[in-house]
Amino acid sequence: MKQIGHFIDGELVPGNSGRQKDIYNPNTGDIQAQVNLATPEELDAAVASAAKAQVLWHNTNPQRRSRIMFAYKQLVESHIDELAALLSSEHGKVLADSRGDVIRGVDVIEFACGVPHAQKGEHTYGAGPEIDVYSMRKPLGVVAGITPFNFPAMIPMWMFGMAIATGNACILKPSEKDPSVPMRLAELFVQAGGPRGLLQCINGDKEIVDAICDHPTIKAVSFVGSSDIAQYVYSRATSNGKRAQCMGGAKNHGIIMPDANMDQAVKDILGAAYGSAGERCMALPVVVPVGEGTAERFLEKMLPAIDSMRVGVSEDKEADYGPVVTREHRDSIKAQVTKAVGEGAKLLVDGRDFSLQGYENGFFIGPSLLDNVTPDMETYQDEIFGPVLQIVRAKTFEEAIKLPSEHQYGNGVAIFTQNGRAAREFADRVEVGMVGINVPIPVPVAYHSFGGWKRSAFGDANQYGMEGLRFYTKVKTVTQRWPEGETEDSAFIIPTF
Ligand code: NAD
Repeated sequence: MKQIGHFIDGELVPGNSGRQKDIYNPNTGDIQAQVNLATPEELDAAVASAAKAQVLWHNTNPQRRSRIMFAYKQLVESHIDELAALLSSEHGKVLADSRGDVIRGVDVIEFACGVPHAQKGEHTYGAGPEIDVYSMRKPLGVVAGITPFNFPAMIPMWMFGMAIATGNACILKPSEKDPSVPMRLAELFVQAGGPRGLLQCINGDKEIVDAICDHPTIKAVSFVGSSDIAQYVYSRATSNGKRAQCMGGAKNHGIIMPDANMDQAVKDILGAAYGSAGERCMALPVVVPVGEGTAERFLEKMLPAIDSMRVGVSEDKEADYGPVVTREHRDSIKAQVTKAVGEGAKLLVDGRDFSLQGYENGFFIGPSLLDNVTPDMETYQDEIFGPVLQIVRAKTFEEAIKLPSEHQYGNGVAIFTQNGRAAREFADRVEVGMVGINVPIPVPVAYHSFGGWKRSAFGDANQYGMEGLRFYTKVKTVTQRWPEGETEDSAFIIPTF
């Protein structure tokens, strides 16, 4: 059986904790590998190596750092087929979607190649008499990234791409459900000419997450995962004096205004609700048809569209989505659908009993569609993270703004309309961090930044873009003068210019 250890000091090491976790093939339900769960002592070794590598790296001029990032981008791109296959085999998403996972991560590496420009400081000549002021953005030192199972390529690259380009060393702690792609990404970094020790990959569970939050050498923690854990990591890391950005769960709404192009809205919502089996923090699991008759017009097109979807194994090129990540997760999705019915929702499409011929032990679940969902239902409040779409009918535009605004999560939201004025007002007033206007999954491009509001993100800085650069650097400001001649008398009042 394949054994997955860690990537420490530029080497694959087996891991010596004696604690392991099974990795499944979600298509077949078989255990295909075991991952070692690191000890705090193994983390210490990784941090020591990272700290050593970082000293040289932060003194490497930015254009040289950029060249390494550029070589890395090219190397990852040339391994995309291998990475996508590995990703699908542990996560279950279809191959084309796995490629997208890698590509969206590479986009951040590409942005990070611009670090010589982006990390330039500011300068004021003559801020006072013969006084110049300049500021620089210094790296923090050793930082850590803790990632979820659902984007095992993109999210690690969001973090270590920005962290390393700006002069830090990074300890990556991937999800223990699908660690092979992050491990491979770390190996490729060294192959691309990245200094050994700069990117370490430590596998583990809560024990190692706690050790990261408590480690005195680690200066910042970036986390993406579910909200309760995000909040826990945020408070533990910040109470230890670290900088932290912790992204959490989501329940994104898709608002359909009466004037929406319904054919397009249905196509967009179908992909956004069920793509990747709904295991995306920017999925659209709630649809809000607004006004009289909009829900009926939506259902008229949505029901046949769901019927035409194909659920299949990850390698099936015709499949719209594959299995979910684990058996437990599939069972929890089924339980949520059952609970929704108990709460009074109307189950229009029931995916609970779906089974794929020849793959009966795989973690497959069919699409479900629930109508008459109301805000008081727990299954509306909670994140289901599966191929389940819930319809909450709204009478007015005001109600459509209120629903996502009052939800505990505030990651993304989309509005489908042909009315620019309504869309503009919606985007302005809705209490959500990322808004799509006729765009179902508004994940910002790499040179903007990603982050939700409310319980979808703890901490101030967003991921990647200039926000990411700021998160991984601290500002130092120098005020200098080079006076000539006699020294001046002491000044007892604060200097004013
Ligand atoms: P998760 O919270 O179970 O795990 C995330 C990370 O936390 C993993 O590395 C895991 O090892 C670690 N972890 C798990 N339990 C822990 C504990 N008790 N103490 C300390 N660490 C612990 O999340 P997941 O199931 O891997 O991923 C799905 C979740 O991530 C969903 O809620 C999804 O919405 C969210 N997500 C959010 C974003 C975003 O940017 N907002 C992006 C992707 C996924």
